[in-house]
Order: sequence, then structure tokens, then C-alpha cells
Amino acid sequence: MTNLVLYRKYRPYSFKDFIGQEHIVKTITNEISSGTISHAYLFSGHRGTGKTTLARLFAKAINCQNPKGAEPCNKCPSCLEINEGKAIDIIEIDAASNRGIDEIRSIRESIKFAPNFLKYKVLILDEAHQLSKDAANALLKILEEPPSFAIFILATTEAHKMIPTIASRCQRFDFYKLSYNEIIKKLSIICKKEGIEIEEGALRTIASASEGSMRDAEGILNQVLSFLPGVRIKEEDIQVLLGIVKTDVITELTEYLIKKDKAGALKFVGEQIEKGIDLPEFTKALISYLRKLIILKIDANLIESIMPGETKESIAKAIKQSESFDEETLKRTIELLLEAENKSKYASIQQLPLELAIIEAIGI
Ligand SMILES: [Zn+2]
Repeated sequence: MTNLVLYRKYRPYSFKDFIGQEHIVKTITNEISSGTISHAYLFSGHRGTGKTTLARLFAKAINCQNPKGAEPCNKCPSCLEINEGKAIDIIEIDAASNRGIDEIRSIRESIKFAPNFLKYKVLILDEAHQLSKDAANALLKILEEPPSFAIFILATTEAHKMIPTIASRCQRFDFYKLSYNEIIKKLSIICKKEGIEIEEGALRTIASASEGSMRDAEGILNQVLSFLPGVRIKEEDIQVLLGIVKTDVITELTEYLIKKDKAGALKFVGEQIEKGIDLPEFTKALISYLRKLIILKIDANLIESIMPGETKESIAKAIKQSESFDEETLKRTIELLLEAENKSKYASIQQLPLELAIIEAIGI
């Protein structure tokens, strides 16, 4: 089973099943139902946020022979051809591996002729910012005088690298990172349909680790399924798989920092290393936690945005710990840990920079 299995299997077939990016879906479906679609679109945003999925949905909807409003019927010959990936009028190109002028020239040739079967020829150009300069200029020429039956959708993770004259010819949509709840919603649907038993905490852990990318979230779920087929998936399974350091380990170490207990802190770190904890992940988790504390200290109202989906106990603990520090100490401690994180990459004793940082932080 590859990481992409679930991602492909659960790609939405209609706009109503597309989770997230509501601002874009609303505008695009309005354009489709009112017949005011553009000739060129620029889909920009973080990876795994649905750019190519939405591009394909759009291509299907505008070609559907029997649409219901903006929704494709998924039954007509056009929809079926597109769903089966057999539509030769839908051209998908990855500019990361086809970045030269010749590829764009061949697009120009093929776009000259009317569609073979569908109403529109749709060119989906992924990673469009990777085109060479000559290729980008050739693409610009096509965009300046597009045939009436051609639609261009350029997808990019780095819109600022696109040449401005191309970007200005496109209707631009910025894709947001998926929210924590949107990712959980999709994962829950998949688990339900697949008959997978999974703990709520496991879903939460996947959602945090995927950092707004649905593709990454589905990839993690896929991975855990191939390791643990047919069993109830627990939060701990995901933590082990991803090398995630448990929150209670971090809060316990933080407690030593608060109590200014050097011996206790060093002993605790030593024990964790004995247990085989991943030191870079451990340091990263500590820094990330202290970052949350300093933000909470500045404005406790930000709790929802920095600790989405955390349990009430974890939130209460974090608030209490943030109150036990003064802002300056927290700031200095984070700085020391950031330095230690860097130094440990080259240290002959890997944990030494972390230990020194802890000693110094407690001495503040
Ligand atoms: Zn259809």
C-alpha cells in the first residue's frame, strides 16, 4: 500500500464533498452556474491543500453534459471519461519535470485544435513556478490569446516565483492550510467508510502532525494502517510512528524548569534518553511547548489558535505553567534552547548542548 492510496481513493467527486477552501469553492461554483468562468486561473497555496483536486473537479464540472447547478452529474459520458482519467482533452502537466520550452510548444500545438470529445480543453499545470524563463514566456504568449475552448489552471506552491505578467492574466485563488477540524472531519469519514477503528486522540495527533496538509494527513493514516492492519488505532500508535514526544513528558520537564531544579531536570533528560527518545524531536517539542507558553502569557485568548483540539487538562496545565514563568525568563530559555538545537547537530555528545541550556536557563 502506498501513501497515496487513501488520498486517491477519497478524492471528492463533487464540490459538496470537497472539504475546506470554502471561499474558493463558493466563487468557483458561482462562476460555473452563472457561465462566467475565466480562461486562466492561478491556484496558489501550501501543498496538500486541494489545488489539483479542485482543478480536476472544475474541469469536470464545466464539461459535464447534465450539470445540477455547478455540480457535475458524475454519470454522463464526459464525467465518466474524466473520472476514469481517460479524458484526452484534460491535459495535466507537472512543470517540475517538464519545465522546458519544448513542453510549452507542444502544449501550444495541442491547444490549437478544438477538443476531441469534451466542451473545453483544460490544461492543468502543476508546480507552474518551476517553468524555465523561456517556457514561462511561451506560456504567456498562449495566455495572451487563448482559444475560446481552452481553460488554463496553473497550480503553484510559490506564487511569488511566477512571472507577474502570467499571474496578472489569471484569476487568482489562495488556498489556505486546512484547519485542524477540516482534517479531522475528512479522516473520520475515511475511517468510517473503511471500517477502521481509531481513537479520537489518534485523529487529533495526525491532524496536528500534518500541519494543514490533507495529503500528509491521509499519508500518515495510510502508513499506520499498513503497520497495524485490522486493529483499533490508538493515540500512542501514531506517536510512536511519527516519533512524537508525549506532551506529559514535556510538561514534566517544564515543571523542573519552573522549580529551578537542575539535578531533577538533568536526571529526567537522562532517563528519557535512556528510554530511546529522539533527541532532536524532544528538543523541538520542548521549544514548541515553551513557545505556546510565551504566547499564552502575552494573550491567553490565543489558546484556541495555538492549541487546537487539545484536551481541557492540557490547556489548564499550559495556562498554569505559563503563569509560573515571567516573560523574560521564558524568552531567554527559548533562545538558549534554539542555540542548543543548532549546536547538537555538531556536538560530540549529542545531549550536551541541551543539558547546558537547561542548566543556564534554570540559573536565570
Ligand atoms: Zn456529467
